[in-house]
Amino acid sequence: MSAHRWDAVVVGAGPAGSATALLLARAGARVLLLDRARFPREKPCSEYLSPESTRVLERLGKDVLHAVAAASPAQLTGMKVVAPSGAGVVGRFETFSFALPRTRFDTILRDAALSAGAEVRESVKVEDLVYDNGAVGGVIARDVGRGTRDVYPARVVVGADGLRSVVARRLGKVFGSAPRRIAFTAHVADARDVNDLGEMHVGRPGYVGLGPIGAGVTTVALVLPLSEARRGERFFAELQRFPGVAGRFDARRVVRRVLATGPFARWSRRPVAKGGGALLVGDAADFFDPFTGQGIYSALRGAELAATAILETLTSGASLNGYARARRREFAGKWLLERIIGIAVGWPGLIERVVGRMVRRPELADLLVRATGNCIPARAALAPGVLAGLLL
Ligand SMILES: Cc1cc2nc3c(=O)[nH]c(=O)nc-3n(C[C@H](O)[C@H](O)[C@H](O)COP(=O)(O)OP(=O)(O)OC[C@H]3O[C@@H](n4cnc5c(N)ncnc54)[C@H](O)[C@@H]3O)c2cc1C
Repeated sequence: MSAHRWDAVVVGAGPAGSATALLLARAGARVLLLDRARFPREKPCSEYLSPESTRVLERLGKDVLHAVAAASPAQLTGMKVVAPSGAGVVGRFETFSFALPRTRFDTILRDAALSAGAEVRESVKVEDLVYDNGAVGGVIARDVGRGTRDVYPARVVVGADGLRSVVARRLGKVFGSAPRRIAFTAHVADARDVNDLGEMHVGRPGYVGLGPIGAGVTTVALVLPLSEARRGERFFAELQRFPGVAGRFDARRVVRRVLATGPFARWSRRPVAKGGGALLVGDAADFFDPFTGQGIYSALRGAELAATAILETLTSGASLNGYARARRREFAGKWLLERIIGIAVGWPGLIERVVGRMVRRPELADLLVRATGNCIPARAALAPGVLAGLLL
Protein backbone atom coordinates (compact mmCIF):
# COMPACT_ATOMS: atom_id res chain seq x y z
CA MET A 1 0.00 0.00 0.00
CA SER A 2 1.41 3.33 -1.08
CA ALA A 3 0.14 5.83 1.56
CA HIS A 4 0.88 8.90 -0.57
CA ARG A 5 -2.28 10.29 -2.19
CA TRP A 6 -1.61 11.70 -5.62
CA ASP A 7 -3.67 14.47 -7.18
CA ALA A 8 -3.74 12.36 -10.33
CA VAL A 9 -2.58 8.90 -11.30
CA VAL A 10 -2.31 8.66 -15.09
CA VAL A 11 -2.42 5.13 -16.50
CA GLY A 12 -0.47 4.85 -19.75
CA ALA A 13 2.40 7.03 -21.02
CA GLY A 14 1.37 7.17 -24.69
CA PRO A 15 0.58 10.58 -26.22
CA ALA A 16 -2.72 10.88 -24.30
CA GLY A 17 -1.27 10.02 -20.90
CA SER A 18 2.03 11.86 -21.17
CA ALA A 19 0.36 15.03 -22.45
CA THR A 20 -2.24 14.93 -19.66
CA ALA A 21 0.46 14.32 -17.04
CA LEU A 22 2.59 17.13 -18.42
CA LEU A 23 -0.25 19.68 -18.33
CA LEU A 24 -1.33 18.68 -14.81
CA ALA A 25 2.21 18.67 -13.41
CA ARG A 26 3.00 22.01 -15.00
CA ALA A 27 -0.05 23.47 -13.26
CA GLY A 28 1.34 22.28 -9.92
CA ALA A 29 -0.55 19.01 -9.45
CA ARG A 30 1.18 15.98 -7.89
CA VAL A 31 1.05 13.49 -10.75
CA LEU A 32 2.10 9.86 -11.04
CA LEU A 33 2.41 8.51 -14.60
CA LEU A 34 2.42 4.70 -14.83
CA ASP A 35 3.14 2.48 -17.83
CA ARG A 36 3.41 -1.27 -18.04
CA ALA A 37 6.13 -0.93 -20.72
CA ARG A 38 9.69 0.32 -20.50
CA PHE A 39 10.50 3.21 -22.82
CA PRO A 40 11.39 3.54 -25.59
CA ARG A 41 8.56 1.13 -26.43
CA GLU A 42 7.15 0.24 -29.82
CA LYS A 43 3.59 1.02 -30.85
CA PRO A 44 1.97 -0.30 -34.04
CA CYS A 45 1.09 2.90 -35.91
CA SER A 46 1.57 4.70 -39.25
CA GLU A 47 3.34 7.40 -37.23
CA TYR A 48 1.95 10.44 -39.00
CA LEU A 49 0.99 13.43 -36.83
CA SER A 50 -1.86 15.27 -38.53
CA PRO A 51 -0.87 18.92 -39.22
CA GLU A 52 -2.98 20.31 -36.40
CA SER A 53 -1.03 18.15 -33.93
CA THR A 54 1.83 20.62 -34.40
CA ARG A 55 -0.31 23.36 -32.80
CA VAL A 56 -1.00 21.15 -29.78
CA LEU A 57 2.69 20.25 -29.45
CA GLU A 58 3.49 23.96 -29.48
CA ARG A 59 0.99 24.53 -26.68
CA LEU A 60 2.53 21.64 -24.73
CA GLY A 61 5.76 23.62 -24.87
CA LYS A 62 8.23 25.04 -27.35
CA ASP A 63 10.76 22.53 -26.01
CA VAL A 64 8.40 19.67 -26.96
CA LEU A 65 7.98 20.96 -30.51
CA HIS A 66 11.73 21.58 -30.80
CA ALA A 67 12.48 18.05 -29.65
CA VAL A 68 10.13 16.62 -32.28
CA ALA A 69 11.58 18.85 -35.01
CA ALA A 70 15.12 17.88 -33.93
CA ALA A 71 14.35 14.14 -34.18
CA SER A 72 14.77 14.27 -37.99
CA PRO A 73 11.11 13.59 -38.73
CA ALA A 74 9.78 13.32 -42.27
CA GLN A 75 7.61 16.26 -43.30
CA LEU A 76 4.47 15.35 -45.22
CA THR A 77 2.75 17.90 -47.44
CA GLY A 78 -0.36 15.86 -48.20
CA MET A 79 -2.00 12.49 -48.61
CA LYS A 80 -2.47 10.32 -51.67
CA VAL A 81 -5.55 8.10 -51.85
CA VAL A 82 -5.37 5.19 -54.30
CA ALA A 83 -8.42 3.17 -55.40
CA PRO A 84 -8.29 -0.61 -55.98
CA SER A 85 -7.77 -0.04 -59.74
CA GLY A 86 -4.59 1.94 -59.03
CA ALA A 87 -6.15 5.35 -59.85
CA GLY A 88 -4.92 7.90 -57.32
CA VAL A 89 -5.45 11.46 -56.23
CA VAL A 90 -3.39 13.77 -53.99
CA GLY A 91 -4.86 16.19 -51.46
CA ARG A 92 -2.50 18.80 -50.05
CA PHE A 93 -2.33 20.35 -46.59
CA GLU A 94 -1.83 24.10 -46.41
CA THR A 95 1.12 23.40 -44.12
CA PHE A 96 2.95 20.14 -43.47
CA SER A 97 2.82 17.40 -40.88
CA PHE A 98 5.55 15.53 -39.03
CA ALA A 99 6.03 11.77 -39.20
CA LEU A 100 8.51 9.98 -36.94
CA PRO A 101 8.88 6.64 -35.16
CA ARG A 102 6.65 6.24 -32.13
CA THR A 103 9.61 4.96 -30.12
CA ARG A 104 11.04 8.49 -30.51
CA PHE A 105 7.86 10.56 -30.35
CA ASP A 106 6.36 8.89 -27.30
CA THR A 107 9.67 9.07 -25.44
CA ILE A 108 9.87 12.82 -26.13
CA LEU A 109 6.42 13.27 -24.58
CA ARG A 110 7.18 11.03 -21.60
CA ASP A 111 10.41 12.97 -20.97
CA ALA A 112 8.49 16.25 -21.20
CA ALA A 113 6.02 15.01 -18.57
CA LEU A 114 8.97 14.09 -16.34
CA SER A 115 10.58 17.52 -16.84
CA ALA A 116 7.28 19.21 -15.99
CA GLY A 117 7.37 17.48 -12.59
CA ALA A 118 5.36 14.28 -13.06
CA GLU A 119 6.76 11.18 -11.39
CA VAL A 120 7.11 8.43 -14.00
CA ARG A 121 7.20 4.71 -13.20
CA GLU A 122 7.62 2.08 -15.89
CA SER A 123 7.01 -1.68 -15.84
CA VAL A 124 4.02 -1.00 -13.61
CA LYS A 125 0.84 -2.63 -14.88
CA VAL A 126 -2.47 -1.32 -13.60
CA GLU A 127 -4.89 -4.15 -12.89
CA ASP A 128 -7.85 -2.61 -11.10
CA LEU A 129 -9.47 0.49 -9.64
CA VAL A 130 -10.16 1.18 -5.99
CA TYR A 131 -13.23 3.09 -4.81
CA ASP A 132 -13.72 5.59 -2.03
CA ASN A 133 -17.34 6.48 -1.11
CA GLY A 134 -18.59 5.51 -4.58
CA ALA A 135 -15.96 7.50 -6.47
CA VAL A 136 -12.80 6.08 -8.01
CA GLY A 137 -10.06 6.69 -5.46
CA GLY A 138 -6.96 5.12 -7.01
CA VAL A 139 -5.56 2.11 -8.81
CA ILE A 140 -4.09 -1.27 -7.96
CA ALA A 141 -0.98 -2.02 -9.98
CA ARG A 142 1.63 -4.74 -10.25
CA ASP A 143 5.27 -3.67 -10.30
CA VAL A 144 6.64 -6.18 -12.78
CA GLY A 145 10.26 -5.64 -11.73
CA ARG A 146 9.76 -5.89 -7.96
CA GLY A 147 6.89 -8.38 -8.15
CA THR A 148 4.74 -6.31 -5.75
CA ARG A 149 1.08 -5.37 -6.00
CA ASP A 150 0.42 -1.88 -4.67
CA VAL A 151 -2.45 0.55 -4.20
CA TYR A 152 -1.89 4.08 -5.52
CA PRO A 153 -4.53 6.41 -4.02
CA ALA A 154 -5.47 9.40 -6.18
CA ARG A 155 -8.03 12.19 -6.28
CA VAL A 156 -8.40 11.55 -10.03
CA VAL A 157 -7.45 8.53 -12.15
CA VAL A 158 -6.81 9.09 -15.85
CA GLY A 159 -7.31 6.04 -18.08
CA ALA A 160 -4.91 6.64 -20.98
CA ASP A 161 -4.07 2.97 -21.43
CA GLY A 162 -4.97 2.63 -25.08
CA LEU A 163 -7.14 0.39 -27.20
CA ARG A 164 -7.64 -2.40 -24.66
CA SER A 165 -7.83 -0.09 -21.66
CA VAL A 166 -8.29 -1.85 -18.34
CA VAL A 167 -9.54 1.42 -16.81
CA ALA A 168 -12.27 1.69 -19.49
CA ARG A 169 -13.37 -1.89 -18.86
CA ARG A 170 -13.56 -1.30 -15.12
CA LEU A 171 -15.63 1.89 -15.60
CA GLY A 172 -18.34 0.25 -17.69
CA LYS A 173 -19.23 -1.37 -20.93
CA VAL A 174 -16.77 -1.02 -23.84
CA PHE A 175 -18.53 -1.26 -27.20
CA GLY A 176 -17.10 -2.86 -30.29
CA SER A 177 -18.65 -2.34 -33.70
CA ALA A 178 -18.12 -2.75 -37.43
CA PRO A 179 -15.74 -2.30 -39.14
CA ARG A 180 -13.81 -4.92 -37.14
CA ARG A 181 -10.27 -4.69 -38.52
CA ILE A 182 -6.78 -5.75 -37.57
CA ALA A 183 -3.47 -4.12 -38.58
CA PHE A 184 0.06 -5.32 -39.30
CA THR A 185 2.79 -2.69 -39.36
CA ALA A 186 6.48 -2.77 -40.31
CA HIS A 187 9.40 -0.41 -40.91
CA VAL A 188 11.19 -0.94 -44.20
CA ALA A 189 14.29 0.85 -45.51
CA ASP A 190 14.83 2.05 -49.09
CA ALA A 191 11.24 1.66 -50.31
CA ARG A 192 10.79 2.89 -53.88
CA ASP A 193 9.11 6.20 -54.80
CA VAL A 194 8.37 7.36 -51.27
CA ASN A 195 8.40 11.16 -51.14
CA ASP A 196 6.66 13.79 -49.04
CA LEU A 197 3.23 12.16 -49.04
CA GLY A 198 1.36 9.75 -46.84
CA GLU A 199 -0.39 7.14 -48.99
CA MET A 200 -3.58 5.16 -48.48
CA HIS A 201 -4.19 2.28 -50.91
CA VAL A 202 -7.62 0.67 -50.78
CA GLY A 203 -7.84 -2.97 -51.87
CA ARG A 204 -10.15 -5.94 -52.00
CA PRO A 205 -10.08 -6.58 -49.07
CA GLY A 206 -8.35 -4.19 -46.70
CA TYR A 207 -6.05 -1.25 -47.22
CA VAL A 208 -2.39 -0.26 -46.94
CA GLY A 209 -1.17 2.98 -45.34
CA LEU A 210 2.44 3.99 -45.89
CA GLY A 211 4.70 7.01 -45.55
CA PRO A 212 8.22 8.18 -44.73
CA ILE A 213 9.24 8.56 -41.07
CA GLY A 214 12.74 9.96 -41.63
CA ALA A 215 16.20 8.45 -42.13
CA GLY A 216 15.16 6.64 -45.31
CA VAL A 217 12.67 4.46 -43.45
CA THR A 218 9.06 3.94 -44.51
CA THR A 219 6.32 2.78 -42.16
CA VAL A 220 3.84 0.46 -43.85
CA ALA A 221 0.57 -0.77 -42.36
CA LEU A 222 -1.61 -3.52 -43.80
CA VAL A 223 -5.14 -3.29 -42.42
CA LEU A 224 -7.48 -6.25 -42.95
CA PRO A 225 -10.99 -7.25 -41.95
CA LEU A 226 -10.76 -9.38 -38.82
CA SER A 227 -12.17 -12.33 -40.80
CA GLU A 228 -9.12 -12.13 -43.14
CA ALA A 229 -6.52 -11.74 -40.38
CA ARG A 230 -4.60 -14.86 -41.49
CA ARG A 231 -3.44 -12.97 -44.59
CA GLY A 232 -1.27 -10.84 -42.31
CA GLU A 233 1.13 -13.76 -41.90
CA ARG A 234 2.07 -13.25 -45.57
CA PHE A 235 2.69 -9.53 -45.06
CA PHE A 236 4.93 -8.80 -48.07
CA ALA A 237 3.03 -11.14 -50.42
CA GLU A 238 -0.18 -9.35 -49.45
CA LEU A 239 1.32 -5.96 -50.35
CA GLN A 240 1.65 -7.19 -53.94
CA ARG A 241 -2.17 -7.24 -54.23
CA PHE A 242 -2.25 -3.44 -54.20
CA PRO A 243 -1.35 -2.00 -57.64
CA GLY A 244 0.16 1.18 -56.20
CA VAL A 245 2.28 -0.72 -53.64
CA ALA A 246 3.46 -3.82 -55.55
CA GLY A 247 7.22 -3.96 -56.16
CA ARG A 248 8.09 -1.03 -53.88
CA PHE A 249 9.14 -2.96 -50.76
CA ASP A 250 11.93 -5.48 -50.33
CA ALA A 251 11.29 -7.92 -47.46
CA ARG A 252 15.07 -8.14 -46.86
CA ARG A 253 15.12 -4.41 -45.98
CA VAL A 254 12.85 -4.72 -42.92
CA VAL A 255 14.32 -2.69 -40.06
CA ARG A 256 11.56 -3.37 -37.56
CA ARG A 257 9.61 -6.60 -37.33
CA VAL A 258 5.93 -6.74 -38.21
CA LEU A 259 3.68 -5.84 -35.25
CA ALA A 260 0.00 -6.76 -35.11
CA THR A 261 -2.79 -4.87 -33.34
CA GLY A 262 -6.59 -4.82 -33.25
CA PRO A 263 -9.43 -5.34 -33.58
CA PHE A 264 -10.49 -1.67 -33.59
CA ALA A 265 -13.77 0.14 -33.48
CA ARG A 266 -14.17 0.33 -29.74
CA TRP A 267 -15.52 3.03 -27.57
CA SER A 268 -16.36 3.34 -23.94
CA ARG A 269 -19.85 4.12 -22.71
CA ARG A 270 -18.40 6.30 -19.99
CA PRO A 271 -15.50 8.70 -20.65
CA VAL A 272 -16.14 9.85 -17.03
CA ALA A 273 -16.73 7.51 -14.07
CA LYS A 274 -20.36 7.51 -12.89
CA GLY A 275 -19.44 8.35 -9.30
CA GLY A 276 -16.56 10.68 -10.31
CA GLY A 277 -12.84 10.35 -9.72
CA ALA A 278 -11.80 9.01 -13.15
CA LEU A 279 -11.91 9.79 -16.85
CA LEU A 280 -10.68 8.28 -20.11
CA VAL A 281 -8.56 9.94 -22.80
CA GLY A 282 -7.08 8.84 -26.15
CA ASP A 283 -7.77 5.36 -27.52
CA ALA A 284 -9.02 4.29 -24.09
CA ALA A 285 -12.04 6.54 -24.69
CA ASP A 286 -12.62 5.73 -28.36
CA PHE A 287 -10.84 4.52 -31.47
CA PHE A 288 -12.61 3.66 -34.72
CA ASP A 289 -10.21 3.06 -37.57
CA PRO A 290 -6.68 4.18 -38.47
CA PHE A 291 -7.52 5.22 -42.08
CA THR A 292 -7.91 8.93 -41.31
CA GLY A 293 -4.79 9.11 -39.10
CA GLN A 294 -6.42 11.20 -36.39
CA GLY A 295 -5.57 9.09 -33.35
CA ILE A 296 -2.54 11.00 -32.11
CA TYR A 297 -4.22 14.37 -32.59
CA SER A 298 -7.28 13.12 -30.70
CA ALA A 299 -5.05 11.82 -27.91
CA LEU A 300 -3.23 15.17 -27.59
CA ARG A 301 -6.30 17.39 -27.92
CA GLY A 302 -8.24 15.08 -25.60
CA ALA A 303 -5.41 15.48 -23.07
CA GLU A 304 -5.87 19.25 -23.15
CA LEU A 305 -9.60 18.86 -22.46
CA ALA A 306 -8.95 16.29 -19.74
CA ALA A 307 -6.35 18.43 -17.99
CA THR A 308 -8.68 21.46 -17.98
CA ALA A 309 -11.48 19.42 -16.38
CA ILE A 310 -9.18 17.75 -13.83
CA LEU A 311 -7.61 21.05 -12.75
CA GLU A 312 -11.11 22.45 -12.13
CA THR A 313 -11.93 19.39 -10.03
CA LEU A 314 -8.70 19.67 -8.06
CA THR A 315 -9.11 23.38 -7.36
CA SER A 316 -12.87 23.78 -6.88
CA GLY A 317 -14.23 20.26 -6.48
CA ALA A 318 -16.22 20.65 -9.74
CA SER A 319 -17.55 17.47 -11.32
CA LEU A 320 -15.61 15.89 -14.19
CA ASN A 321 -18.80 15.66 -16.27
CA GLY A 322 -17.91 18.81 -18.20
CA TYR A 323 -15.15 16.77 -19.82
CA ALA A 324 -17.67 14.46 -21.52
CA ARG A 325 -19.51 17.50 -22.90
CA ALA A 326 -16.28 19.16 -24.02
CA ARG A 327 -15.30 15.97 -25.87
CA ARG A 328 -18.63 15.87 -27.68
CA ARG A 329 -18.32 19.52 -28.72
CA GLU A 330 -14.76 19.02 -29.89
CA PHE A 331 -14.99 15.61 -31.55
CA ALA A 332 -18.59 15.01 -32.72
CA GLY A 333 -17.84 16.01 -36.35
CA LYS A 334 -14.55 14.09 -36.33
CA TRP A 335 -16.26 10.96 -34.98
CA LEU A 336 -18.84 11.09 -37.78
CA LEU A 337 -16.32 11.74 -40.55
CA GLU A 338 -14.00 9.04 -39.24
CA ARG A 339 -16.86 6.52 -39.10
CA ILE A 340 -18.12 7.36 -42.60
CA ILE A 341 -14.63 7.03 -44.10
CA GLY A 342 -13.86 3.92 -42.05
CA ILE A 343 -16.99 2.20 -43.36
CA ALA A 344 -16.53 3.50 -46.93
CA VAL A 345 -13.07 1.94 -47.31
CA GLY A 346 -14.76 -1.44 -46.89
CA TRP A 347 -16.59 -0.73 -50.19
CA PRO A 348 -13.96 -0.71 -52.95
CA GLY A 349 -16.49 0.30 -55.65
CA LEU A 350 -17.43 3.36 -53.63
CA ILE A 351 -13.78 4.37 -53.18
CA GLU A 352 -13.25 3.97 -56.93
CA ARG A 353 -16.08 6.42 -57.53
CA VAL A 354 -14.96 8.94 -54.89
CA VAL A 355 -11.35 8.92 -56.15
CA GLY A 356 -12.66 9.44 -59.70
CA ARG A 357 -14.67 12.47 -58.53
CA MET A 358 -11.66 13.93 -56.70
CA VAL A 359 -9.45 13.52 -59.78
CA ARG A 360 -11.92 15.73 -61.64
CA ARG A 361 -12.30 18.15 -58.72
CA PRO A 362 -8.93 18.35 -56.90
CA GLU A 363 -10.28 21.00 -54.53
CA LEU A 364 -12.43 18.26 -52.96
CA ALA A 365 -9.32 16.14 -52.35
CA ASP A 366 -7.64 19.08 -50.60
CA LEU A 367 -10.75 19.68 -48.52
CA LEU A 368 -11.07 16.05 -47.43
CA VAL A 369 -7.38 15.76 -46.58
CA ARG A 370 -7.45 19.00 -44.60
CA ALA A 371 -10.58 17.95 -42.70
CA THR A 372 -9.08 14.58 -41.76
CA GLY A 373 -5.83 16.38 -40.91
CA ASN A 374 -7.84 18.49 -38.43
CA CYS A 375 -6.78 21.68 -40.27
CA ILE A 376 -10.42 22.62 -40.92
CA PRO A 377 -13.55 21.50 -39.06
CA ALA A 378 -14.74 18.01 -40.00
CA ARG A 379 -18.19 19.41 -40.75
CA ALA A 380 -16.72 21.21 -43.79
CA ALA A 381 -16.30 17.80 -45.42
CA LEU A 382 -19.78 16.72 -44.35
CA ALA A 383 -21.62 19.61 -46.05
CA PRO A 384 -24.29 18.30 -48.47
CA GLY A 385 -22.64 20.01 -51.46
CA VAL A 386 -19.30 18.35 -50.71
CA LEU A 387 -20.84 14.90 -50.19
CA ALA A 388 -22.79 15.29 -53.45
CA GLY A 389 -19.59 16.31 -55.25
CA LEU A 390 -17.79 13.23 -53.93
CA LEU A 391 -20.55 10.77 -54.75
CA LEU A 392 -22.67 11.96 -57.67
C1 LIG B 1 -2.29 0.47 -37.74
C2 LIG B 1 -2.47 1.79 -37.06
C3 LIG B 1 -2.01 2.93 -37.67
C4 LIG B 1 -2.19 4.16 -37.08
N1 LIG B 1 -1.71 5.24 -37.70
C5 LIG B 1 -1.89 6.47 -37.15
C6 LIG B 1 -1.33 7.62 -37.75
O1 LIG B 1 -0.63 7.57 -38.76
N2 LIG B 1 -1.57 8.82 -37.17
C7 LIG B 1 -2.32 8.93 -36.02
O2 LIG B 1 -2.52 10.04 -35.55
N3 LIG B 1 -2.81 7.85 -35.40
C8 LIG B 1 -2.61 6.62 -35.93
N4 LIG B 1 -3.07 5.53 -35.28
C9 LIG B 1 -3.74 5.68 -33.98
C10 LIG B 1 -2.75 5.97 -32.86
O3 LIG B 1 -1.74 4.98 -32.85
C11 LIG B 1 -3.47 5.99 -31.51
O4 LIG B 1 -4.67 6.70 -31.64
C12 LIG B 1 -2.61 6.61 -30.41
O5 LIG B 1 -1.48 5.81 -30.16
C13 LIG B 1 -3.42 6.78 -29.14
O6 LIG B 1 -2.59 7.20 -28.10
P1 LIG B 1 -2.91 6.78 -26.60
O7 LIG B 1 -1.95 7.53 -25.75
O8 LIG B 1 -4.36 6.90 -26.35
O9 LIG B 1 -2.63 5.20 -26.54
P2 LIG B 1 -1.28 4.39 -26.75
O10 LIG B 1 -0.36 5.12 -27.62
O11 LIG B 1 -1.71 3.02 -27.13
O12 LIG B 1 -0.62 4.33 -25.30
C14 LIG B 1 -1.20 3.57 -24.27
C15 LIG B 1 -0.12 3.26 -23.24
O13 LIG B 1 -0.74 2.61 -22.13
C16 LIG B 1 0.10 1.59 -21.66
N5 LIG B 1 -0.74 0.60 -20.97
C17 LIG B 1 -1.68 -0.20 -21.52
N6 LIG B 1 -2.28 -0.93 -20.57
C18 LIG B 1 -1.69 -0.59 -19.40
C19 LIG B 1 -1.89 -0.99 -18.04
N7 LIG B 1 -2.81 -1.91 -17.71
N8 LIG B 1 -1.13 -0.44 -17.08
C20 LIG B 1 -0.19 0.50 -17.42
N9 LIG B 1 0.03 0.92 -18.67
C21 LIG B 1 -0.72 0.40 -19.64
C22 LIG B 1 0.78 1.03 -22.92
O14 LIG B 1 1.99 0.39 -22.64
C23 LIG B 1 0.97 2.31 -23.74
O15 LIG B 1 2.24 2.90 -23.52
C24 LIG B 1 -2.87 4.26 -35.84
C25 LIG B 1 -3.32 3.12 -35.21
C26 LIG B 1 -3.12 1.89 -35.80
C27 LIG B 1 -3.60 0.66 -35.10
